[in-house]
Amino acid sequence: MLHKEHFFIKTKRQKALYDLAHQHAEKFRERAAHYDKTGEFPFENFEELKASGFHALTVPKEYNGKGISLYELVLVQETLGQGDGATTLGIGWHLGIMMDLSIRREWDEPLFQKMCQEVVNEKKLINRAATEPKTGSPTRGGKPFTTAVKQADGWLINGHKSFASLAPIADYFIITASIKESDQVGGFLVDTAYPGLQTKKTWDTMSMRATGSDDLLLKDVKVPMEAHVETIGGGHANDHLPHGWLLHIPACYLGIALAARRDVIHFAENYQPNSLPHPIKEVPHVQQKIGEIDLELMKARYMMYGVAEKWDEDEEMRPHLGPELSAVKYVATNAAVKVVDLAMRIVGGTSIFRSNPFERYYRDVRAGIHNPPNDDAVLGILGKRVFSN
Ligand SMILES: Cc1cc2nc3c(=O)[nH]c(=O)nc-3n(C[C@H](O)[C@H](O)[C@H](O)COP(=O)(O)OP(=O)(O)OC[C@H]3O[C@@H](n4cnc5c(N)ncnc54)[C@H](O)[C@@H]3O)c2cc1C
Repeated sequence: MLHKEHFFIKTKRQKALYDLAHQHAEKFRERAAHYDKTGEFPFENFEELKASGFHALTVPKEYNGKGISLYELVLVQETLGQGDGATTLGIGWHLGIMMDLSIRREWDEPLFQKMCQEVVNEKKLINRAATEPKTGSPTRGGKPFTTAVKQADGWLINGHKSFASLAPIADYFIITASIKESDQVGGFLVDTAYPGLQTKKTWDTMSMRATGSDDLLLKDVKVPMEAHVETIGGGHANDHLPHGWLLHIPACYLGIALAARRDVIHFAENYQPNSLPHPIKEVPHVQQKIGEIDLELMKARYMMYGVAEKWDEDEEMRPHLGPELSAVKYVATNAAVKVVDLAMRIVGGTSIFRSNPFERYYRDVRAGIHNPPNDDAVLGILGKRVFSN
């Protein structure tokens, strides 16, 4: 049973979305250890997400999606994360990008419409590959070494991307590239079937092993002229909008933390060593630690749902919510690390056995620290705002 006391479901529609994510999560949960152990990509999980239409939740209603809100996105992602963190982060990139595209409307509308149709009808998936071995996190502002050269009938792209989640299954990547003979960095929509695009299997990590975040090698990849879909800082009307969609990241890691909470409660209710006349749930230090777990989760969840709600309800506030969105990521991912640590202290030595899920949660929540924005960047953003007012 997943954690049922859900304070954040307020409408029938949210309950239906929660139920959908919960059903998927229960199945993913049974397979999570296998995909973590083997490092195989969980294709069957994605087939199920596609079959239920989960992958189209953030496509706008006008193009036959569900047009879910940011609040609803964090609700489904947090719920899905209780089944399998890696699948959740993977589908989260796709869902978040489709939400972001539908808010910004930076692409030519016919191309965006075509993308939506392909997602809904052909069940295609998209992600963004912005990280490179020599730039590190793109949020630090490093210019891509990947280049795009304009030709008479399109663009020629060459380069190397790393950490490209969904590499085994994505149909499209938005590849960031420096545009030759200009200062600009563009985003290029690259069909993964284009000749010259190769996946290099590099994703052998301790965390989030089933995200398939391999490297992409691009050698003379020819894309059509209209594949240049974005120009970073290109003066688009919505450039000032922060990245609300990135809340899929804290939602995923809080999902993993909620799974640890669920499992540790089950353990404490059932584990009774023969030195005690009752299960360890009655031991004061266990109750203290469960209290700490709930305190961490309350802080992070009220903050995440609160900021998501503000984003949805007040469009005029959106441009000002960048620091709050970043702070949610900081608080949630650090809370997830702390919650799993506390859960393992309660469980004791058996928590490190591979036959138990806690050591997987422990490894998976570590990855959250390295997803954007990094802790130091968040604190810098908050501090800067204080002095710029
Ligand atoms: C599970 C997972 C999935 C991911 N999926 C994707 C994806 O789908 N697409 C994608 O594009 N990326 C993805 N990423 C990559 C992620 O967004 C980061 O780009 C990546 O982790 C590299 O960032 P970093 O901070 O870890 O490393 P780096 O940026 O290399 O930083 C390493 C160290 O140097 C410091 N540092 C580097 N530059 C600066 C600077 N300018 N100022 C101050 N300090 C600096 C950092 O603080 C850190 O201590 C994923 C990452 C993970 C963990």
